[in-house]
Amino acid sequence: MEATLMGSLRDHHRKSELEVALKLNGSIRLKMAQFLQERGFVEIPPVIYSTATDPLNHPVYDPSFDYEGTRYSITKSMIFHKQILVQQFPKIYSFSPNVRLEMPEKAKTGRHLLEFTQLDLEMLDATREDAIRLGEDLFCDVIKHVKEKHSKDLESIERTISVPSKPFRRIKYMDAMKQYGDDFESILSREAKEPFWIIDIPLEAREFYDRESDTEKGILNDMDLIYPEGFCEALSGGEREYKIERILERVRAKNQSPEQFEWFIEEARSGLRLSAGFGIGIERLLRYICGYKRIEDTHPFPKIPGQKSV
Ligand code: ASP
Ligand code: MG
Repeated sequence: MEATLMGSLRDHHRKSELEVALKLNGSIRLKMAQFLQERGFVEIPPVIYSTATDPLNHPVYDPSFDYEGTRYSITKSMIFHKQILVQQFPKIYSFSPNVRLEMPEKAKTGRHLLEFTQLDLEMLDATREDAIRLGEDLFCDVIKHVKEKHSKDLESIERTISVPSKPFRRIKYMDAMKQYGDDFESILSREAKEPFWIIDIPLEAREFYDRESDTEKGILNDMDLIYPEGFCEALSGGEREYKIERILERVRAKNQSPEQFEWFIEEARSGLRLSAGFGIGIERLLRYICGYKRIEDTHPFPKIPGQKSV
């Protein structure tokens, strides 16, 4: 017989783990919104489906449908919407639900849900440096808040976390790769005691929209934040390509077509300014804060790769 939700919640352990995760979920979202609004960010509503969504840089199934003769995809990230809207509203964020139908083997990582929420934000006339600084401040504030307001909750799940010192360490992608090989992210994450940045990710490893360095060919002005203790990727972000010729060149280099992103490309033709931002996965952040082995313990209705869900 399949396990029911009520059945699995009668397991006292899972119920108390989920309870803490849900309590922290509400609390950190409030904290993040407050942090951003104090800095002049405007919250924008999430986009659930649209004609152009994040192509991602790894294979996933594409949930899409037709409506009145137009093809739509469910949002994989709001990257294009935020890059366009930030031109009018210079600091924006959204708690954005995303659907990424990952391949079944991703279940092994303990950090992939097919449906998740990311705090996605973008700043106009900003550089990667600005995004990194904001990310560090935001992360440290959230951890400080959790320690101050939720020490009992952390105690109840036997979790200890600390506020990292700023600035976080930075490691260049190619250096990490040379030293540790393909699996560098997990190796470095397991060794680390504090979060750190992987920067200068090469073009092949990222989507077309991250901006290529003006001085180093094939290297992007972008970054990932990696959690310590083996929890791996926390956020991805960077500067964006904003000149139409470069956008088109990058789309072509990925063997993608401008038609796939028609709405975005049309907007970009009218001229964009540089922006930078990032997206941080909420369930992954909760998993790290709570120290859970599996991301599904942060969610009452987890969608696990390769598994049937309600
Ligand atoms: N939201 C983007 C993503 O999901 C991250 C970013 O802002 O670059 O890849
Ligand atoms: Mg991305």
